[in-house]
Amino acid sequence: MKATGFLLFSILWLMLVGLSFYYQVEDDKKYGQKIAYKQAEMFFQHIVLMRQWNADHGGVYVPVTEQNQPNPYLNATTRDVTTREGQTLTLIDPALMTRQLAKMEESRSHIRFHIASLTPMDPENKADAWEEKALQAFTQGWKSYEGLTDIGNQRYFRYMGALVLEPTCLKCHNEPDYKVGDVVGGISVSIPSASIDDFLSVRLAWLKQSHLLIAAIGLMALLIAYWAQERLNKRLTKARSHLQLAYLDSLTLLPNRRYYDAFVRREWKRATRHHYPLSMIMIDIDFFKAYNDNLGHVEGDQCLRQVARTLRRYFRRSGDLIARYGGEEFCVVAACDSLQIMQLAEILRMAVESMKLPHPESKISQYVTISLGVATLIPRENIEFGDLLLHADRALYDAKHSGRNRVEKYRG
Ligand code: GH3
Ligand code: MG
Ligand code: MG
Repeated sequence: MKATGFLLFSILWLMLVGLSFYYQVEDDKKYGQKIAYKQAEMFFQHIVLMRQWNADHGGVYVPVTEQNQPNPYLNATTRDVTTREGQTLTLIDPALMTRQLAKMEESRSHIRFHIASLTPMDPENKADAWEEKALQAFTQGWKSYEGLTDIGNQRYFRYMGALVLEPTCLKCHNEPDYKVGDVVGGISVSIPSASIDDFLSVRLAWLKQSHLLIAAIGLMALLIAYWAQERLNKRLTKARSHLQLAYLDSLTLLPNRRYYDAFVRREWKRATRHHYPLSMIMIDIDFFKAYNDNLGHVEGDQCLRQVARTLRRYFRRSGDLIARYGGEEFCVVAACDSLQIMQLAEILRMAVESMKLPHPESKISQYVTISLGVATLIPRENIEFGDLLLHADRALYDAKHSGRNRVEKYRG
């Protein structure tokens, strides 16, 4: 992994964690709202249940006290009664009970509920703007209504359920146009959003911490992977350069003799297995001692480099190889027959001659030339690859002694 790759992966990782955080926060907010509305709905159902109980009993008598005054809007002949002991009791109907419970609940938990109607008898039951919308919706068949709105300067999750006229209600509400099943109003339950925000803030803090931790762990893992790979790369590069140094001739940058020997052994085995011919060329620069003596060793080195560069151009196949054998000698091995290797040798000879590198001290040419000894063998179990080398060396000897700047073949 390169530094840019590491940076890219880190950014991707942070984006991924950020995205997860965003979605979880949004999801939690929605979940918080759902909880608020569910809680309000349960409150509503509870109140309806209590009202039902009250209505089933046709209202409940309680002693008249300062806080518990008779309901002036209750149209019942037996609203107030006196016990034998002389105590005055007054009838609490579901509507008054709801109002009293609402006051108790608001002082206890800040959750508000309110019985409301579009045509209230008691002005306390007058609907506010939001409740009016809900009640309008009930007239169109809605059973409940919810929304997030302000009351005063506070936000509330508000839920309103419809109040449907039950047969028990008719005990007190005996108005001629009332019939069972009519929506006569509703009860709104308002839960302060601050209470849900408090609940959510704990969860948000936890989400923040966990995501920061996950982001940090991911970054750390990436950093470790990056660091480990960097180390591995360095070791690989080092090993590769050591390997190159061990098998490369530093002057000509051709494979060296050690590599050549290993290569020839391998090729020899393969040719033995498959019974195909293996050929070799020994190459030696003519009168190179004189070249050095005349032009100096630095020029001599330069000449060796140039000859090597020219020769290597003809070696592209994986089964062929040219190496620096030592001094001013090069060696070729190729998986081909004697005719092909003779052609290649001649091409190499001409290539060096055509470089036209001046050689003032050569006795056979004004330019640098090479002599080449060629040998071919079909490897068998009873012959060694050293024999091929010997034959090529012998052919080179012949090339030198028959005039140089030429190719000679081993003749046995
Ligand atoms: P011949 O035509 O018979 O091959 O004659 P020659 O002078 O080339 O052969 P000889 O073996 O007498 O000389 C080889 C010379 O190559 C001797 C040495 O100075 C030179 N030589 C060997 N290695 C290097 C090298 O790495 N750099 C330089 N500059 N010269 C080298
Ligand atoms: Mg030599
Ligand atoms: Mg020589």
